[in-house]
Amino acid sequence: MYLFKSVADLQAYLKPQRDKNRSIGFVPTMGALHEGHLSLLRRSLAESQCTVCSIFVNPTQFNDPSDLEQYPHSPESDLERLYQTGCPVVFMPTVAEVYPNGKAPADTQKLDFGSLATVMEGAHRPGHFQGVAQVVKRLLDIVQPDFLFMGEKDYQQLLIVREMVRQTGIPTEVIGCPTVREADGLAMSSRNQRLSPQQRQQAALIYRTLQQAAAWVKNWPPREVEAKAMSQLKEAGLEPEYFELAEARSLQRVEDVQNADTVLALVAARVGDVRLIDNYLLKGNAH
Ligand code: AMP
Repeated sequence: MYLFKSVADLQAYLKPQRDKNRSIGFVPTMGALHEGHLSLLRRSLAESQCTVCSIFVNPTQFNDPSDLEQYPHSPESDLERLYQTGCPVVFMPTVAEVYPNGKAPADTQKLDFGSLATVMEGAHRPGHFQGVAQVVKRLLDIVQPDFLFMGEKDYQQLLIVREMVRQTGIPTEVIGCPTVREADGLAMSSRNQRLSPQQRQQAALIYRTLQQAAAWVKNWPPREVEAKAMSQLKEAGLEPEYFELAEARSLQRVEDVQNADTVLALVAARVGDVRLIDNYLLKGNAH
């Protein structure tokens, strides 16, 4: 397994790969790796001839400084997991390497994601998606992959990145991969490690509520389903920020489930000071 810390070294390795027409798959992560990340890696290993996995905690996508400070770091066990899974190339750049001159490149500022970037995560984490679009654009410019593997767990992020790739004309195919869950349904997340045993139990209610919503939409209109879900989470001691039923491509609120082609339930909730997100398809096909 090769580990590169500089853009120049990574590119020097990738150029002959590209010259030999080997397809390049890319899995960007922020580390503290779990089975969700490894599922993207396995998919890339199966579908491309050369896989690059990056570990970079991108400061520009954190709107809350304490969230950035407390974000888990475990580079040694991450590298061990990547090696065990068969990852051939790891890119672990410094902030200065990703943002030379101390500045983020201006080229993603002009991108307009419309309401995709202003609802849900966009509303609750101002600037978050500009930061995500910026870092993914920069990483795609560096790696120039044929395929980019991203998780449906961060569904709104997946749509934003697709839209960024479309608007910038980058010739990379974005591939959404299913959410990997713990045995009780909790979506795997690096942030789960920060939950106490009691909070870990409480957090399982997020997925149970998403599943219940699939049954509730048969008998209640969307706004009532959302309200029931919010109050169930609150009663169990979680602090839900939103629970919305939305059309899976536009993320516009669903008014009438019967007439909607797709219905996705999306949720963000705090368990103590750990903020978790998840989503679940209630009708149709996603993205
Ligand atoms: P992160 O390190 O949280 O930025 O995530 C890196 C990539 O892994 C993103 O594309 C995430 O959507 C994806 N990911 C995170 N958790 C999961 C999961 N439980 N299942 C599938 N993909 C995931």
